[in-house]
Amino acid sequence: MLAHINGNFKGKDIVSLRQFDPHSLQKLFTLASEMSSLAKKAKGSNLLHGTITTLLFYEPSSRTFGSFSAAIKRLGGQTVDIINPQVFSSVSKGESFEDTIRVFESYSNALVIRHPEKGAALKAADIAAFVPVINAGDGIGEHPTQALLDLYTIYEKFHHLDNLIGVFAGDMLNGRTVKSLLRGLSHYKGITAYLLSPKALQLAKEDYNDFAASGITLIQIEKEEDIPKNAHFWYWTRVQKERFSSLADYEKVKNKFILSKRLLSAYGNKDLILMHPLPRVGEIETDVDEDKRALYLRSQVRNGMYVRMALLALVLGKIK
Ligand code: ASP
Repeated sequence: MLAHINGNFKGKDIVSLRQFDPHSLQKLFTLASEMSSLAKKAKGSNLLHGTITTLLFYEPSSRTFGSFSAAIKRLGGQTVDIINPQVFSSVSKGESFEDTIRVFESYSNALVIRHPEKGAALKAADIAAFVPVINAGDGIGEHPTQALLDLYTIYEKFHHLDNLIGVFAGDMLNGRTVKSLLRGLSHYKGITAYLLSPKALQLAKEDYNDFAASGITLIQIEKEEDIPKNAHFWYWTRVQKERFSSLADYEKVKNKFILSKRLLSAYGNKDLILMHPLPRVGEIETDVDEDKRALYLRSQVRNGMYVRMALLALVLGKIK
């Protein structure tokens, strides 16, 4: 069972944006902003001194892994880094998932897990009885810390999270970051999400119904001409190649919608922000990077570290 945060993060597993509420998100954002000032001071902090967090990554990751690692170290904590345990550890000898979680739980104060299967983080949270588990991406399921940093980035710009219009482009079916972000936005009123993708990459029916029931106005579009000119943010994503069983199917749908200077001048507005969870693989042209509205290689990345610093400090009970 997943606990709701309700303003108290201590000891709680962080598996889904369903667990959040506006008050808890606000608390996290306030602390993330303090973390950004702290990270700029050369001295750093010892808030997580004496704690060990295991980073258990069953799936490739460079930025999420690096962001967690940097966040922990900036607060004086330590990490045990387990990358690809299915290849390099006892998992390759046939150890069960349960046993692996139990072993690393006993070394650590918290477990951060990334896994290719949807639901694996929840399963790990159920197994680990003594330490909090943080989902760093479970297959096509969710990626809560990405959504938290995305929400914080939007909040930093607009100072509110209600009454927003967002354009999401790319892979709605397999992309976990879109789902987590929509789940986060569903806690606020007046959200309209335009979902721009080929038919084959539209949200699964179950997710569509879930978001629609949560109060978000969802508008599925298949042509760039339907992009609204009054959006607050564009959230571009890559087509998730690793979720396709056939390369030919991937080739058919990849990069149908490319964010270019032309697209931006046709449908963008001056206050818009451009976001992407990264890595990008051709769906945003590199000459868009210099545009002031492009945050994906700027504050969006930095905010990831600040939000993870704040989240770890709260979950580990170092800040109330
Ligand atoms: N880094 C993000 C994720 O792990 C986005 C992506 O891989 O496309 O889901």
